[in-house]
Amino acid sequence: MQPIPMSFAQLLAPGAPNLSAVRSAAAPRRSIAEVLAPLDRLASNSASLIANLNANFKTGGKEYGLPRYLFIGPSGGDAEPLRIGIFAGVHGDEPEGVHALIRFLTLLEQQPELATGYCIFAYPVCNPTGFEDRTRHSRSGKDLNREFWRGSFQPEVQLLQSELVAHAFDGIISLHTDDTSHGFYGFARGATITKDLVEPALNAAEQYLPRNGSDQIDGFKARNGIIRDGYQGILSAPPRVRPRPFEIILESPQAAPVYLKEAAIVAALRSILERYREFISYAQNL
Ligand SMILES: [Zn+2]
Repeated sequence: MQPIPMSFAQLLAPGAPNLSAVRSAAAPRRSIAEVLAPLDRLASNSASLIANLNANFKTGGKEYGLPRYLFIGPSGGDAEPLRIGIFAGVHGDEPEGVHALIRFLTLLEQQPELATGYCIFAYPVCNPTGFEDRTRHSRSGKDLNREFWRGSFQPEVQLLQSELVAHAFDGIISLHTDDTSHGFYGFARGATITKDLVEPALNAAEQYLPRNGSDQIDGFKARNGIIRDGYQGILSAPPRVRPRPFEIILESPQAAPVYLKEAAIVAALRSILERYREFISYAQNL
């Protein structure tokens, strides 16, 4: 049944349903299969991109998959490949990261040399029910990004935690969107190298979107668009892992045009791979 269209005056009238409820009632559920179809097509013909779709969980009596992709870059020499995990869509109402990650994997398929020396583990839709419903929280009503390493019973979190343990990532990148920020910014956590990766990443993103230069962002102290602090329970490396991998959260401003957000995220991701590879090869030659 189609919802009855409402005028703006009706929406603003006292006693009107709140706007987000109207929007989610009016907007159809997203199809994860449809969004990922281009990536799956690409993977079916690729020697480098592998779709690994066998991570399933049950919620509300329905079976769901946690979409996983692996991109194996060209060998960077004798050293073991660097393992990077990229996570998008932990909040279901932040589709920009999902689309940007799909675009980034498509770019790697076209220019695999960008991923030389890397294995990229990509999780484009970390909160499948929230993504379908266009909500921040999962269908069980949880903000999954407050649930990590706290004994969570959320099956998505448990699956992602086991990925974080199994792959022992050298670097973890999460993609988010902020509806209160006018500019691009990032959280730098984990290894000390992280802030030296975020700075050039924000520079690269600045080709497309301004940086948030405020000294307070999202309630945290910030400097040049970089926050060193963070919330408890966010997606991160297992607490006891040493040395800590680099951990970066890229936040794009929600109000910006879609193509600019995606271009900014892709540019930032490219920059991080480039800079980290330089850093590692420099460290190995010391
Ligand atoms: Zn978010």
